[in-house]
Order: sequence, then structure tokens, then C-alpha cells
Amino acid sequence: MRVIVIGGGILGSIAAYSLLRAGAEAVLIDAAHPGRATQAGAGIVSPWTTRYEGEALYAMLEGGATAYPDLVAALAEDGETDLGYARVGTLCAPEDPAVLDAIEPLVRRRAAACPLAGDVARLTAAEAQRLFPAMAPRAALHLTGGARVDGRRLAAGLHRAIAQRGGVIRQGSAALLTEGDRLRGASLDGEAIGADAVIVAAGAWAPSLLAPLGLRLAIEPQRGQILHLRLEGMDTRAWPVLYPMTSHYLLTFEDGRVVIGATRETGSGFDQRVTAAGLAEVLGTALSVAPGLAQATHVETRIGFRPMPPDGRPLLGTVPGLPGLVIANGLGPSGLTVSPFAGRVAAQLALGEAPPLDIAPYDPLRR
Ligand code: FAD
Repeated sequence: MRVIVIGGGILGSIAAYSLLRAGAEAVLIDAAHPGRATQAGAGIVSPWTTRYEGEALYAMLEGGATAYPDLVAALAEDGETDLGYARVGTLCAPEDPAVLDAIEPLVRRRAAACPLAGDVARLTAAEAQRLFPAMAPRAALHLTGGARVDGRRLAAGLHRAIAQRGGVIRQGSAALLTEGDRLRGASLDGEAIGADAVIVAAGAWAPSLLAPLGLRLAIEPQRGQILHLRLEGMDTRAWPVLYPMTSHYLLTFEDGRVVIGATRETGSGFDQRVTAAGLAEVLGTALSVAPGLAQATHVETRIGFRPMPPDGRPLLGTVPGLPGLVIANGLGPSGLTVSPFAGRVAAQLALGEAPPLDIAPYDPLRR
């Protein structure tokens, strides 16, 4: 069976990789749009400490986080180990400690139900600061199983593993290919590529890809401006993810790299600019939470367009009347967490297999 995947971000790449591991043929087509979300995503994988509500969304978040160890092991079998994935833990450190009282029972309940989440503990301000030395002293809730991943390195590793497993990767902007009312595959620069199924994982650009088929996808781009700093000469690789429990966050990687994010600009369209207000918002919050970053070097500011669904739930499923078409989208602010699960489900749907959960709540064409 041959499946085309349109979109080589985290979601499409995991779908294509899952297809190959299941023994199918996969062709991954990617237009590499500037502002693709995976290239900008912060990389926090810690569903247990989020305040997201709704069972359907949480099932995807937890499914993704718990699928990471298997994905990382599978990629290691294929020689890919440079993914930036590490279970560094998560610190929830709001300005007002009363917020911890509100969130602690929820985090404990989730952690008790999921061994990968690890242990939960209340830390004094001094204990929290020992884990994240640049932060202001604040009492915190610590969860040992929280993780982070580098979306760029993960996507690059997946692309190499796809090629090594015999998958085809094509660059360019694809369109869907139909004959009458049947889906035939995709076209790329005038070339027709036939397939038994097509997964559309085209992020914030998917609505224009599906519109010629009369399908209206309720996805909007939401701009995120996110900054990368470097704490020169500091070993930051094991610092936990730091949530001040606003919409902002801080996380670290190797080589002193500190990622501070991010704006959430609904209605931005595909505006690629870094703005004065965006920089001020992100830097202002980060420095108030972590004054130890004041002398860090500014390395770069990234722009990414989150593919935002109408109601927070992913869009994932097939399309009535168009056999072979699978839509995978709408992972919004959580796609680096959800994709190891959602990408595998997309592959199962394309192969005609039953998914491991009821996908009705993720109907991709809902309003
Ligand atoms: P994308 O990565 O946007 O990929 C879509 C791909 O489709 C692109 O490469 C595009 O070029 C391609 N494409 C589009 N149209 C076509 C076409 N016609 N032909 C061929 N290719 C096409 N998630 C987390 O879990 N944790 C985080 O900490 C986190 N932080 C974030 C911070 C920021 C600032 C942003 C912007 C996002 C963050 N996210 C995070 C969310 C996550 O990055 C996204 O949900 C995820 O990357 C979406 O992946 P995707 O593959 O659906 O889309």
C-alpha cells in the first residue's frame, strides 16, 4: 500500500515514519513554508502540568507524551539519537503560591494515573532555585517526568530515518489529485503521484489545499514569537521546564541555550514579522521570572504559526465520500507533545486500521 503525506512538520513526519514501520510505502511532500510551526515550537512535553480542560484533548496530550519513549527508541534503532529529548522535569512556579494550591490536586491526580509523569513534590523557593538557578526565588510544584524536545532536530531525524527506511521525500508544494469524485493521489510541479491514500498534515496552510475539493477546514494561523538566549559557559542541559503559570514559559537545552516563549497572536494571519510588542512581552515576562537571564546573549527570535482549531481539539479523521483522504491538523500549541500519538493514528487511518481510541470528537470537518 502506498500513502502520500502532504506536510513534513512533526505531524506529517511521524505519520510517514509510522507508515514505513508498518510496512507500507510512504511519499512525504513538504513545501518548507517559512513560519512552519515545528521549526519554532518550544518543545515542552508535560501534559500533566497543563491547565487544559476537556477529556478529548487531554487523551491526545497524554497519548503523545507517553508515546515518546517508544518513538525515541525506534529512532535510536535507525541511528537517530540527536533529538533534544530529555525528561528534565517541570517546575510550576507562579508569582502567587495560592495558584499552586489550586493546581496541585489536578497534577497529583494525573501523575497517579500515568507512571511516566514521575513524582510530584512541593519545593521551597531555595529548592526550586537550585534546579533552575536563573529564576527568582519562588515556591514551586515539581514533577519529575516532564520532558522537552527540539522540534527541529526531531523533524530532521525523522526525515533521515524515513529516507533510510526507503521512504521518498519530495520538496515542493503539492495539490490533491482527484478523478471525478475519487482521490487519486497528489500532484507536484505538474507531476501526478498516485497513491492508495493521502494524509494531509499541512499545518496552518491546509485550508487552501483542501478548498478545491469543497472542504472547509476551520484552521487559523496563530503567530508565536519565541526567543532563544544563551547563558555563556553554563551547563543548562538538565534544567527543568519552568512554568510561571501564565501563558509564558522557559526551558533550556544544551550549550547554555534558553528558550523563552511565546506570544499567542490570534488573528495574525501569516505575518512573518518580529514585532517590538512581541519582544517586549516575552522578554519582560522572562526577566521577571528569571532575572538571572539579564546578561544572557540574544541568539535569535523565531516565528511560528500554530495551526489553531476552533475549539482546542485536534482535527483528525477521514472524510465521508472521499475514501483514502485523512486529515491530521489542529494541534495548536501542543503539536510537539501530541504528534507521536496523533501521527501514528493518522497512519492507521490511512492503512484502514482501527485507531486505538474513539476519534469522533476529532471530526476534522466540524464547525
Ligand atoms: P507544521 O510544523 O506547520 O508543518 C506543516 C508543514 O506542511 C510545513 O512544513 C508546510 O510547509 C507543509 N505544507 C503546507 N502546505 C503544503 C503543501 N501544499 N504541499 C507540501 N507541503 C505543505 N507544542 C508543544 O507540544 N510544546 C511546545 O512547547 C510548543 N511550543 C510552541 C511554541 C511556538 C512559538 C509555536 C509556534 C508552536 C509551539 N508548539 C508547541 C506547537 C507545535 O509546534 C505545533 O503544534 C506543531 O509543530 C504543528 O505541527 P504540524 O506538522 O501540524 O505543522
